[in-house]
Amino acid sequence: MGGAEAVHQDRAAAELTGTTIDALLRGAPRGLELRCRGWEQEGALRCLLNNLDPDVAEDARALVVYGGRGRAARSPEDLAAIVAALERLGPDETLVVQSGKAVAVLPTHPDAPRVLISTAMVVPAWSDEDSFRRLEDAGLTMYGQMTAAGWFYIGTQGILGFTYETFRAVAEAHFGGTLAGRRVLTAGLGGMGGAQGFAVTRSGGRALVVEVDPTRAERRRRESWVDLVAGYDEALTAHLDPGGPGTVALIGNAADVVPRLLGEGVHFDVVTDQTPAHDPLGAYVPRGFTAAEAAGADADDPNFRAAVYGSLTDHVEALLGYRRAGAVVFEYGNGIRAQAAAHGLEAAFEIPGFVSAYVRPIFARGVGPFRWICLSGDPADLRRSEDVVMEVVGTDSLRAWIELARERVPLQGLPARICWLGLGERDRVALALNELVRSGRCGPLALGRDHMDPASVASPTRETEAMRDGSDAVADWPVLSALLNAAQGASWVAIGNGGGVGVGRSIHSGMVVVADGSESAERKLRRVFRTDPALGVARYADAGYPEALAEAARHGVDIPP
Ligand code: NAD
Repeated sequence: MGGAEAVHQDRAAAELTGTTIDALLRGAPRGLELRCRGWEQEGALRCLLNNLDPDVAEDARALVVYGGRGRAARSPEDLAAIVAALERLGPDETLVVQSGKAVAVLPTHPDAPRVLISTAMVVPAWSDEDSFRRLEDAGLTMYGQMTAAGWFYIGTQGILGFTYETFRAVAEAHFGGTLAGRRVLTAGLGGMGGAQGFAVTRSGGRALVVEVDPTRAERRRRESWVDLVAGYDEALTAHLDPGGPGTVALIGNAADVVPRLLGEGVHFDVVTDQTPAHDPLGAYVPRGFTAAEAAGADADDPNFRAAVYGSLTDHVEALLGYRRAGAVVFEYGNGIRAQAAAHGLEAAFEIPGFVSAYVRPIFARGVGPFRWICLSGDPADLRRSEDVVMEVVGTDSLRAWIELARERVPLQGLPARICWLGLGERDRVALALNELVRSGRCGPLALGRDHMDPASVASPTRETEAMRDGSDAVADWPVLSALLNAAQGASWVAIGNGGGVGVGRSIHSGMVVVADGSESAERKLRRVFRTDPALGVARYADAGYPEALAEAARHGVDIPP
């Protein structure tokens, strides 16, 4: 039976056996018993279902993991078919997933990836919001953010380290290293935005976060990311009280509230935003609409479109007003400047992007977000694996971060941890973790990273904004990164369009390797976690960053002259 034919059978089988969406949305299987034919396939299955665990996903029933409409699978039937294909996938086969749909199971070999995923890729001239939506409406593609379609989301924690590093860098650059006594205004308490208050308060400051959807704000309060949820007056009073709560959620629309605060002369030291402006017609809520009304609105309705773009430009106009009033203002990677600029507010780009302003020096050293998921579901595995990571990379900052995360970061879905590691660290950590699994003291682990790594993303208004050599929009790097990781045999490799900033505005790739303690895992880990960060160093060395050139020389990365 041909691969494509078998995949059709998977769909049919999933429908016939009555596999319902409910059965698949109970989170990932736990324990050490395999449902699949090997730990790589099992790892992919558990990470996919973990993405859709109702405790992890923003809207599991809609298959939305995070970031507006970032999905893990195209439809419930497609999800069931992917699960069925993973359950029967052999150790010498590869499942091919096209924008959230299983399209073939092909014979490969044990060292090849078990799954290859490409999401939302559209020929560049068709890669605009309206053309994409038409393809989506025709059932031909889906939007997958980064780790939603790449099956490696770990909840709000995933962005926490990054957000924490950013606010620390803001404190360093403008306020002598601390946000003590400083007040931060931002918006959006979604999957990513939820981490902002934590990062601000850990840096000594206090945050007022505008959120249009009361249920999202309540969710963050329940999860302890927010201390108080209130309307305009109560929230503002609590925020302005120096002894008040650290993170206050103000229920309202940012396009109303930010201009109002500016107009009333309320001072903030730092102003940013994490509303889903990357998807203006699908996720950003315009003024005058509730979140539910916006979700149900017709994206082609000229009144709705006018409300969206009017709100976005007024919102950015107010951010510019705060900048002129002396606040530190930056775009937090949601593409809001580009949206406003495309609708007449050219001054939007006076606001810097957070990567070019604060994160670039970290990327230029080839350092990026490394994460792992404990496939057994046992929190004790997380503790043991964290101990190993702290032993291998003994820096004070890593130890401080892990201790803080242990104490403050609630687990969502399978136990997972993120930290920032570079070349020479990731392979040592990966091999040590495989040894830990081999020793029998820890269940299998899935090791990987977000797509926002030095080489693995081209996003000219975010990760690659204002590159030293002007290579902001050059997207060969994420494609090369995906090819390299597939060649080195990562367990699964994903490539996508539009993560973070919207379709047509970024290309990115990610990978995961399952550490099950085997020799084969050791080979894969040794290869992938050496060359993946080495390509990051090469990307920044090619762009002329001295930090990257120094790293390349220090680690013997062969960069032809
Ligand atoms: P999300 O869709 O999970 O949450 C967005 C939140 O904003 C929701 O709670 C929504 O109700 C709220 N919202 C929408 N319109 C609003 C408005 N006008 N006023 C106030 N609140 C509004 O998205 P997310 O995963 O939290 O991501 C937020 C944005 O940040 C996205 O654009 C995403 O692409 C971007 N992002 C940034 C980073 C980063 O590193 N900073 C990383 C990934 C994604």
